[in-house]
Amino acid sequence: MNDQDINAAVNRVLAGFNGAIAPAPTPVPAPPPVKSAASSVEDTVARIIAEMGGSKSAPAADPTAPFSQGCIVADGMVTKSAGEMNCSCCERGDCALSATSVSLDVSDEEAVVLGDGVFASMDEAVEAAAEAQRQYLFCSMAARKSFVDGIRDIFLDPAVLERISRMTVEQTGMGNASDKVIKNRLAASKTPGIEDLKTEAESGDGGLTLVEYSAYGVIGSITPTTNPTETIICNTIGMLAAGNAVVFSPHPRAKIVSLLAIKLINRKLASLGAPANLVVTVQAPSIENTNAMMAHPKVRMLVATGGPAIVKTVMSTGKKAIGAGAGNPPVVVDETADIEKAAKDIVSGCSFDNNLPCIAEKEVIAVSQIADFLISQMQKNGAYLVKDMAIVKKLEELVLTPKGGPQTNCVGKSAVYLLDKIGISVGPDIRVILIELPKEHPFVQEELMMPILPLVRAGDVDEAIDLAVELEHGNRHTAMIHSTDVRKITKMAKLIQTTIFVKNGPSYAGIGVGGEGYTTFTIAGPTGEGLTSPKSFARRRKCVMVEALNVR
Ligand code: NAD
Repeated sequence: MNDQDINAAVNRVLAGFNGAIAPAPTPVPAPPPVKSAASSVEDTVARIIAEMGGSKSAPAADPTAPFSQGCIVADGMVTKSAGEMNCSCCERGDCALSATSVSLDVSDEEAVVLGDGVFASMDEAVEAAAEAQRQYLFCSMAARKSFVDGIRDIFLDPAVLERISRMTVEQTGMGNASDKVIKNRLAASKTPGIEDLKTEAESGDGGLTLVEYSAYGVIGSITPTTNPTETIICNTIGMLAAGNAVVFSPHPRAKIVSLLAIKLINRKLASLGAPANLVVTVQAPSIENTNAMMAHPKVRMLVATGGPAIVKTVMSTGKKAIGAGAGNPPVVVDETADIEKAAKDIVSGCSFDNNLPCIAEKEVIAVSQIADFLISQMQKNGAYLVKDMAIVKKLEELVLTPKGGPQTNCVGKSAVYLLDKIGISVGPDIRVILIELPKEHPFVQEELMMPILPLVRAGDVDEAIDLAVELEHGNRHTAMIHSTDVRKITKMAKLIQTTIFVKNGPSYAGIGVGGEGYTTFTIAGPTGEGLTSPKSFARRRKCVMVEALNVR
């Protein structure tokens, strides 16, 4: 059997599927097929197509079905008319994409109404997403890119950015809107798209083998209250780029803004001709609905971005799970650092969105030699130094639960707010509450997610590094160092093993604000994916063409 035999056999089978496919070019007339071999290839191709949902006796495919409009393929192949290059999706001149207009206006009241990806029950949501994903299999990569770019566009609109950021603060009572604008814009602009899915090829006497990133199917994504819309934007881009549909289980406290984001995404996708319900959720997010989603047989992968409990839960389901859990990022400052800059960076990183980001500086470990100077420089940059242990006690009573964890009603509150609660009035220039403490104190050990920044002294940089490793608790999340000693920087990087390691900058440089590189809001330390991107949400699959297509 040679290439022409294969071509001829494939064409004969595809012709039986109502001729819905563009004819393959046949520059050289095919010799008469060798019956036995050709029919076995025909059988194989027919079987594969049948397994993909095709049927030889099916009625002629409507070129606009099953999508609402736009880039259409049949039997797994994209049909394009060369030379007509004006469609945003597939470059087909006759593609209807540009013709449709869908209103992107969704009021706050409309956000929680059924429709546009919002379902009454988890079962309906998952079934709809499964159907959408089956249709999505047949979209071209150009279409995928246009959908992903469309999602970016919605959230890069300044009015939408301002609205979802403000709403998040109003609904969750956490963080500050101006920093959330930065985070949402970051998710929309710097989350990788389809370019992340690089195909590997190997050819030789045995033929040609491709290893490609292929969709999982329907992914269940659980999102946190600390980054509700950022995670929805980032996960939607990454999961759709990899060919999946996604069912979101948002935090109930961020319900309205999460549903709004999902509706805006659905309206935009509809306007671009995407299969309906690629991104869905339920009208009333709850733990029961999250459990139903995790248990649904059509959800093939679970992605949890949240605290240790939900990460453990998804990892116990027996399904493929990505767990992006808690951090307790330490920042080490040694005697070789630019102390003025370190002080400024630490206060900026720690106070970003009122310390909500899981990557934000949670404790400082300073070498004794420079600790006093560092403290004085931090005070110049918006740190309020607390020395009185009676005030520390009041803070403990305010922000800690009896078990020693953070009080939810203090998480993501500003330094000004927290100080006010214990009767200390300060100006808006105060961004961080700085307290020198021993390493055993719960402010040091616990991930507080509020701008209370403990500082622990260490005798030298080696001791500081050891302490940082201990306080990171093996989360493998994020750590920072301010130092100009490359050997010590390297030592800390090797020992601490965090997914993000920032040298001489604020923590947010690690997610792409002021630092190079792409972003993610799902940093998967516990399950090892680390910085998630589209390929984290895909399976590596092998396509083998035997004894053909090796042209060396
Ligand atoms: P959380 O764990 O309380 O909630 C996260 C999500 O899980 C929510 O949607 C919540 O409804 C759901 N959930 C929690 N417990 C559940 C249960 N028993 N059953 C079903 N669903 C459950 O966390 P949070 O307060 O929303 O977010 C803050 C935490 O998330 C912090 O620990 C932070 O470090 C972490 N986080 C990690 C990353 C990362 O990329 N690694 C990103 C953001 C936040």
